[in-house]
Amino acid sequence: MGRPTWDEYFLNILDAVALRASCDRGKSGCVITMDNRILSTGYVGAPAGLPSCDEVGHLLREVKYEYGEVKQHCVRTIHAEQNAIIYAARYGVSINGATLYCTMTPCPVCCMLIIASGIKRVVAKHDYQASADTKNMFASANIELTILNQQTIY
Ligand SMILES: [Zn+2]
Ligand SMILES: [Zn+2]
Repeated sequence: MGRPTWDEYFLNILDAVALRASCDRGKSGCVITMDNRILSTGYVGAPAGLPSCDEVGHLLREVKYEYGEVKQHCVRTIHAEQNAIIYAARYGVSINGATLYCTMTPCPVCCMLIIASGIKRVVAKHDYQASADTKNMFASANIELTILNQQTIY
């Protein structure tokens, strides 16, 4: 086995971060880097200080998707990308110009936060079934989106 590329290196770390996810309805992680050093990490879970799904169960709400399907969605958690971006804010770490690694193509809300935070490159391990809005927004904002595995999960 050869030496991992930087993308492989951070995706291996991403998998370790995702193991900490506290909602089993979508175990995802996030790693934000600059110049190949880690600035922040996050995983799907309740905001720090609030009880997690593992402790008190999911908080399910109906969500209607862009393609019309209605699904039960857990709203107790914030997404891995949101947790990573907010952790950086909490400690005053600039992520302007950074690269974000994530388990799947970010949802539209995370996509908008990523754009607003100044992140310039996004590497997703897997594609996500409802990702058309995200792909359009990243393209409009000139953010490079690399999806390593086109097979969708969740
Ligand atoms: Zn949950
Ligand atoms: Zn999201």
